[in-house]
Amino acid sequence: MRSLPVPTSADGDDSEIEALCRDPIFAPGRQEWLAAYAAYRAVGGNPWAFDPLYVDSDLHHRRYDLYDGRKNSPELKAIRDNKQLKYCPMCGSPVIGSLDHYLPRTTYSEFSIMRANLVPACMHCNSSTKGKTYRGEAEHERFIHPYFDAWANGPVWQVEIDAPYSAATFRPVPTPDLGEPRRSLVQFHLRNVLGKQFMISTVNLWATYHETLAVNLDDYALDAVIARIGKDRKIAEITAGTNSWSAAFMRGLQASGPAIVHVRMKLLEFVENA
Ligand SMILES: [Zn+2]
Repeated sequence: MRSLPVPTSADGDDSEIEALCRDPIFAPGRQEWLAAYAAYRAVGGNPWAFDPLYVDSDLHHRRYDLYDGRKNSPELKAIRDNKQLKYCPMCGSPVIGSLDHYLPRTTYSEFSIMRANLVPACMHCNSSTKGKTYRGEAEHERFIHPYFDAWANGPVWQVEIDAPYSAATFRPVPTPDLGEPRRSLVQFHLRNVLGKQFMISTVNLWATYHETLAVNLDDYALDAVIARIGKDRKIAEITAGTNSWSAAFMRGLQASGPAIVHVRMKLLEFVENA
């Protein structure tokens, strides 16, 4: 859930097709293949804006397989091992090291090796539902595209904390100021990219946050707690990333008065028993 520059120019992607089409196996499909790349760039990979290219099954499999032969190439390694990333651009987890097809090659084999379609991701994103699904039932429901949805650089989601707070439950939701159709899009995205590990991490944050407050505060008045939560939200956005799991948790906590009151109560109990 963040925006990244496209890893190559249009020419960079197209020149690979040109090179492959020197082979008579691929040559007859050259023009429609180039047109599919151009269409992809024009609509930012939006799966509601175009259908998969119909090709015979032999060509489909040959295009599909191209990726296996190239996944360790320097070009694709550079995308996968992006050192600038603090978190998975798809789900916000603190791990990367994998490469995900934004539009899956099982359906869209024509984009199997298109660099604009290959995004760095964590193992979970690359192997979960995300691998097979590329859009929802209702229009606009699709995944955020790290290369084409520049708006995803701002905060797009937060974690709502639901009572009872002694056994709280957590709901990932779009940020309240996000309008349609981005709201439906983010909702679909969150529903499909966040898994068990996200819940474990959030439960842990919630269970321990009052202890970090005890370390950071000398004054336990409600105002001081609220101010510190605001500061910790900013720190999470800077260090872990704007749409990282911890930043989304802090935004949700900051937005909930009753949850803050509960955290302060746990803080008071904790320092009293320490
Ligand atoms: Zn991920």
